[in-house]
Amino acid sequence: MTALGLSQAGYPATVLERTGPAPRSGAALGNATSGLQRILSGRNGTSGNGVDAYAPNAVAETWEQTYRLLRAATNDDANIRVLHNQVVAHVGQNDDHAWARTADGTVHEGELLVGADGHRSVVRRLVAPDKPDATYAGYVIWLGIAEESELDVAAIGRRWPSGLDIRDAGPDCLLGYPLGPHDGSLGGGRRLGWAWFDPRRTHLLRETGCVAGDVVQHSMRPADVPANTLAELDDEARQWPSPWREAIRDCLRRRAVTGTPIAEYLPDRLTSGRVALVGDAGHVSTPMTGRGFAVAVSDAETLAEELAKHPAGTGILTALHAYEQRRLGPARDVVTSGQAFSRSFKLST
Ligand SMILES: Cc1cc2nc3c(=O)[nH]c(=O)nc-3n(C[C@H](O)[C@H](O)[C@H](O)COP(=O)(O)OP(=O)(O)OC[C@H]3O[C@@H](n4cnc5c(N)ncnc54)[C@H](O)[C@@H]3O)c2cc1C
Repeated sequence: MTALGLSQAGYPATVLERTGPAPRSGAALGNATSGLQRILSGRNGTSGNGVDAYAPNAVAETWEQTYRLLRAATNDDANIRVLHNQVVAHVGQNDDHAWARTADGTVHEGELLVGADGHRSVVRRLVAPDKPDATYAGYVIWLGIAEESELDVAAIGRRWPSGLDIRDAGPDCLLGYPLGPHDGSLGGGRRLGWAWFDPRRTHLLRETGCVAGDVVQHSMRPADVPANTLAELDDEARQWPSPWREAIRDCLRRRAVTGTPIAEYLPDRLTSGRVALVGDAGHVSTPMTGRGFAVAVSDAETLAEELAKHPAGTGILTALHAYEQRRLGPARDVVTSGQAFSRSFKLST
């Protein structure tokens, strides 16, 4: 999204992405459609082969759909290069330019560097060396998506949910989303996405290295969820009403469940010289806010607006300063509201 914005502001962009080109997850993504449509429709006149034509109807219910739409737009833009399997190991800057060095030793230079590298940002170490890490919020979210065709229709009956459903049970909380089919078409193949907030398994996260000290290291992949934890969750899933219970148990049976320890980061700054942070690199709020994607869209849009207003060269410093002035307050507000939830949700240790 930032690369699309930079391109529109007249800055050719190189994206360095550590993973391969395949979309990584089909997990549900709430509240993303309008921001994505804005980013894609804002490209009037720059698109060569139909991005503008589908943007007004673009549906972004899952990360996979979102990735597909953004990837099509970047492929279509001659000002954007997306390089995969490039792990950024080190970043730096001087008075004239900024650079990123990848793990294979290649150095990429530019007039500015944007850290869009998520909650464990390498670029944040340069911008905020005094506070480089997002911290563990005290709970894990178990995530899965069940296909309607795999569910026991007799057990579910006619109770297919019409919208976001939020449930509480003991210390736990469940968010369930009905989802359309994989490709966003209107045909059959409905799905149920769910996110189970669980404050009781910090010990498991520490034992498996997902959390070390105060810092989230990585998610627990389906293959790494211990068999006894799957069995416990299957038993506990009985507390949730139908059809979420069936959806969760189906995912557990297929080992299609990821555990994501939640991190938070309240920023004091978003820029340093020619380096800026956007999205989770800049600020991390609990998914309970439902705002992570929307705030990242606003970051990308604001950065592009400020860069378009100021001339290249020395104007970049002014543009980045103005970007920080506009985005720091809103970003802090979202993180702070999420922290209030997290404080009340996590169990005292
Ligand atoms: C369980 C969960 C559920 C969520 N649900 C929602 C939701 O429904 N709605 C919502 O709005 N938000 C949701 N969020 C928040 C949302 O995921 C984030 O706010 C959003 O992903 C931030 O996007 P980003 O591009 O800044 O970071 P990311 O999505 O983390 O992307 C960072 C990218 O940088 C790459 N990268 C990282 N380090 C390097 C490196 N060193 N070199 C090269 N590449 C690197 C990564 O591979 C990744 O592709 C959820 C978060 C979680 C954890």
